[in-house]
Amino acid sequence: QSFASLGLIDPLLKAIDELNYREPTPVQQKSIPSLLEGKDMLAAAQTGTGKTAAYSLPIIQKIAESGVRAKPKEVTALILAPTRELAAQIHENITAYSKYLDIRSALVFGGVNLKPQTAALARGVDILIATPGRLLDHLGQKHVSLSAVKFLVLDEADRMLDMGFIHDIRKLIKLIPENRQSLLFSATFSPEIRKLADSLLNSPVSVEI
Ligand code: AMP
Repeated sequence: QSFASLGLIDPLLKAIDELNYREPTPVQQKSIPSLLEGKDMLAAAQTGTGKTAAYSLPIIQKIAESGVRAKPKEVTALILAPTRELAAQIHENITAYSKYLDIRSALVFGGVNLKPQTAALARGVDILIATPGRLLDHLGQKHVSLSAVKFLVLDEADRMLDMGFIHDIRKLIKLIPENRQSLLFSATFSPEIRKLADSLLNSPVSVEI
């Protein structure tokens, strides 16, 4: 199987070719077609499997094809991650994948000055990668709104729960319209993760690798 046969558009194929991705990994083969169709997804995948590309390539493509760009202080796709390291890695990947597209992404995490993040949010963000606590800070200060979010990803959901982010996550979910595509990626599936998945996802496709 090739990336082209999964239905990805040329600007993405060109970018991933330059990254020397020769063929899709199993999680990418299983996820990308369903995500392009707009399905919700519950995926069991660890870091190192290529999960970031599995969810971000379809989201980038759907935003590019919609022609809709985020308005000031609005966000189209929200990706939540447990740590600044993971959030930064996701952002780096998305920047590389969207090299040939007009997509604006931004990164928000704690422990650093709010100001540069506030400025990025003010312009409007097509794809925002955030840790939950810092995003709530920005929301509290009205630097950003989640009322235009169309795609939601919880990455490493089990780690976010282990780190005590469940209340933050629930607060964030309440601020996002229900008419959205939602994805949950986790390495493990505890009863808590299943409960979160049940409340978040609509008839999800399950992917296990
Ligand atoms: P992830 O599981 O998303 O953290 O990805 C692990 C690593 O694999 C990252 O460095 C990606 O850039 C890389 N990667 C993702 N997909 C592919 C692929 N299809 N071929 C080669 N490398 C890939």
